[in-house]
Formats: sequence, structure tokens, C-alpha cells
Amino acid sequence: MRIVLVGPPGAGKGTQAAFLAKNLSIPHISTGDLFRANISKQTELGKLAKSYMDAGNLVPDEVTIGMAKDRMAQPDAENGFLLDGFPRNVSQAEALDVALKADDVKLDAVLDLEVPEDEVVKRIAGRRICRKDSSHVFHVTYSQPKQEGVCDVCGGQLYQREDDSEDTVRKRLEVYHTQTEPIIDYYRTQGLVVTISALGKVDEVTKRAMDALKGDK
Ligand code: AMP
Repeated sequence: MRIVLVGPPGAGKGTQAAFLAKNLSIPHISTGDLFRANISKQTELGKLAKSYMDAGNLVPDEVTIGMAKDRMAQPDAENGFLLDGFPRNVSQAEALDVALKADDVKLDAVLDLEVPEDEVVKRIAGRRICRKDSSHVFHVTYSQPKQEGVCDVCGGQLYQREDDSEDTVRKRLEVYHTQTEPIIDYYRTQGLVVTISALGKVDEVTKRAMDALKGDK
């Protein structure tokens, strides 16, 4: 299957993407993770992306689209993928359509994770991520690790993403509403959008998502 995951920052896209990708045996492709990997390796791409990410803005399309297409061209993505955080505006969605058409393949679904804005702010403010694997996500109140600051899954160090600070979150939400939300209408005209509530326990949301995707096949 070829799936796009959309939703505001804090909707749980990264967490859900990791479970869904595993259940569906397809790679989880997160442009945010690709940028963060470049930042920790201190590549030129990482240096450029960091300035935009720290301000809560989108990294320019010229850079992002090429990086996403390179990742999608890897052999493990030949028969499907779960895109998390890409596309994030209409021109990226159009570029993705062109790339898929060139390969004579189509998206199967766009899974839209819905969550109220006050919940988003609470989730992000307390979010802590594992340095070793960013799909290991904890929360200082809702999903505490057994030992403070240490990942339950792999023992990695937990940290707060720089762009999870309150000001940057506000900016990221604004960017989501103005630039990313329009892609939902774009895909709606193609009949691809499945909307589910992202409220509740992680496994409940995963089940809801799997049921919605099965109904959509
Ligand atoms: P995420 O991990 O998906 O929340 O992304 C973190 C940050 O990376 C975003 O706030 C953007 O600055 C940048 N980013 C991730 N994906 C994209 C994209 N498709 N287009 C532009 N910027 C992106």
C-alpha cells in the first residue's frame, strides 16, 4: 500500500506511522526524521534544514522534494510506503503525483489524524523523544518512561525536540493550517481521504487506523 499520513503537529503521526508501517510491512518514511538525521550528521542539508525547522517553518520545496523522492526510490519502498510529514503543502502533493505517475503507481489512501488544538499543545509541551530511535516517543504526564529521561524500549536518552518549544509549536500550527491543511482538500477531490480521531490510547488509534485503511482497500 502507498499511504500518506497527515495531521497537525502532536497528532501522533510518528508514533502511529511506526506501528502502521510494521503492521502493513511497508517502510515508514518521515521527512522530519530524514532532516533530523542530516542535522545530527552535520551535513550541508542538515545545516540548511535546521534554520527552518528551529523557526517552525517548512524547509524549502527544492530541498524537500528531492530528498523525499530519493528515499522513495530505495528498493524497500518499491511495493509501498507510509509517508509521514510529506507532502506538507500543495506543491509537494503535486510533485508527488507526478513522481507516482512516472512509476505508473497510485496512492491508496490519505489517513487524516484529527485532534483538537488544545490537546495538541498539551501533547507537544510534554513530549520526549528517544535519541536513538525517534519512533520511541514518551510524555512527561501521559506516557512516562519507567526511569526519567531514559527510553523504556532501547535505553536511549530522551530529549525534547528544539522545535517543540511553545513559540515554535504555535508557528508550526499556523503553518499547518495555512500550508498543510489544503492538501486534505486536494486529496479529497481524488477520493483518497480517510479521517479518524487521534484521541485515546495509542493502540486504540492504531486499531482505528487499521480498520479505516482496510475499509478503504
Ligand atoms: P516533523 O518531524 O514531521 O514534525 O517535522 C519537523 C520539521 O521538519 C517541520 O516543522 C519542518 O520544518 C521540517 N519538515 C518536515 N517535513 C517537511 C516537508 N515535507 N516540507 C517542509 N519541511 C518539512
